[in-house]
Amino acid sequence: MRSLTRETIKIYWQHGKKYKLALFLMAIGTVGVSGFEVVIPFWYKKLFDTIALNDFALAPELLKIITAVWFLWMGVWLSRRIRDFVTAYFEARMISNLLNTCFDYLHGHSYSFFSNNFVGSLVRKVNRFARSFEEITDQTLIHLGNTGIHVVLVIIILFTRHWILGAGVLIWAIVYIFFGYKYTMFKIRYDREKAAQDSVVTGVMADTVTNQMNLKMFGARDREFENFKKTTDDLYYKQKKAWYLGSFAEAIQGFLMVALEFMVLYIAIKFWQRGLFTIGDFALLQSFVIGLFSRLWNIGNSIRRVFERFADADEMTEILITPHGVKDLPRTKNLLVTNARINFKDVSFGYHDELMVFDKFNLEIKPGERTALIGTSGGGKSTIVKLLLRFHDINSGQILIDGQNIANFNQNSLRRSIAMVPQDPILFHRSLMENIRYARPEATKEEVIRAAKLAHAHKFIIKFPQGYETFVGERGIKLSGGERQRVAIARAIIKNAPILILDEATSSLDSESEKFIQDAMKKLMNNRTTIVIAHRLSTIMQMDRIVVIEDGKVKEQGKHKELLKAHKGTYQRLWEIQAGGFA
Ligand code: ADP
Ligand code: MG
Repeated sequence: MRSLTRETIKIYWQHGKKYKLALFLMAIGTVGVSGFEVVIPFWYKKLFDTIALNDFALAPELLKIITAVWFLWMGVWLSRRIRDFVTAYFEARMISNLLNTCFDYLHGHSYSFFSNNFVGSLVRKVNRFARSFEEITDQTLIHLGNTGIHVVLVIIILFTRHWILGAGVLIWAIVYIFFGYKYTMFKIRYDREKAAQDSVVTGVMADTVTNQMNLKMFGARDREFENFKKTTDDLYYKQKKAWYLGSFAEAIQGFLMVALEFMVLYIAIKFWQRGLFTIGDFALLQSFVIGLFSRLWNIGNSIRRVFERFADADEMTEILITPHGVKDLPRTKNLLVTNARINFKDVSFGYHDELMVFDKFNLEIKPGERTALIGTSGGGKSTIVKLLLRFHDINSGQILIDGQNIANFNQNSLRRSIAMVPQDPILFHRSLMENIRYARPEATKEEVIRAAKLAHAHKFIIKFPQGYETFVGERGIKLSGGERQRVAIARAIIKNAPILILDEATSSLDSESEKFIQDAMKKLMNNRTTIVIAHRLSTIMQMDRIVVIEDGKVKEQGKHKELLKAHKGTYQRLWEIQAGGFA
């Protein structure tokens, strides 16, 4: 994947620039910390030079010096407090704002975007994006920023003491930082390999736990253990390699630091010999050198983290810079549905350009008509429904509702006028009350219960100890398929939209649920333009019209009896398979 660091910075900046005062205070704080810190050693120099005079009468002078040191340390303290408090505010604010942006933009993406991305990985990308910001800010501000300013100030000061010292430390710093940067870049690959292997191990572990039944039933524990051991062996090699490389970097760093200490003190002694340096200068240099060591020790780590976090953020940035698939035109009006006449006019559409599902497809559904779509799998029935809901935009042609082209109206108003009961409904991990009310948040409790009764859901709901307040589990797994479908029907009743779409469950429900669901669906269809993707003969036979869809075309249509008369038709064949199966 190409690096999107520049785009990531742009997005962060668009959010961050609203907090100019905070940014300013953070900069002041960072500069303040380093500024005060580099001045302090001069007072230590003064302190030691004064003590070296061995004159007790100078004690008050010494007290003045340590008072000055105290004030300077308070300056450091204050700068750091300002920086940390403002950073805490800024980062917390930014994380929420970034999460909000991700949420808002993500849900603006089209249906096909979500069918091409895994839920878990999307959620992870959002979190990483916001968390990366925190780490990048911390590292650049507190570690890299502070270190950079400190190093520059120390080198400038050393130049003013003597150019040889300044030049010596400058060259050393360049070598050190260059090495740290290059080595970090080289090591990143091995760190990534290690992290990737870490995920493999976690993945295999999780997969086997999910499949624990299979492990037992197939006596596969030993087999799986062998497989797992292979992944942990690999982890061992990769982890060891990454850590060895880390230790090697530290060895070089340590060596360079000892060399600097020797070089600085060597130069100092030479100057002292010539009467240029006092004992205070040794104190000054020593505290500079130690200050440099403590700041530069982790610089490789900081650089690596910044790079890694930018790499993490890349994935979400890519999503944030991808334009939304299905867009409302500017200043769109609301769709007004009165009769609910539906018209597909010369519609052409394909999920991919090479493979068209529909080529000039035509279908008209009259107001209040109940239409069954049937046909072998892959013919395009579900696609018709998705296009009507405008989950995808069509390549050419028009889809009209009451003469209005749905592409020219706003998506929300379109979807408000359609109620859909999916084949395998998914529910929020919220209470049943909230799940049913989801279709119309202002519905009263009584309305919800009335809808649940019509949908034959009330009886099973009140059997739960918590009744309507029962939480249904993630995606609704605590309910059976038939129960979830009845909840979805209750939702559709609450929504009370002029157009109704039903996707019949293919999985065999027990016959009692089936009877209830049939009955609930029948009530729901009253006075509504209805499209049913039908699998059951009992449903199909009740419809006003049956449309057989094959290969993206209307193959046959008419009432049950008419279609049966047309000998050797597709409908007749399908009917024989089903009727034969039941007989
Ligand atoms: P049906 O509902 O009649 O079984 P579909 O409308 O689901 O048929 O599918 C029609 C065609 O479109 C099939 O060839 C199917 O493979 C293809 N298809 C459906 N959904 C997608 C998708 N999200 N991406 C690509 N191809 C798809
Ligand atoms: Mg389908």
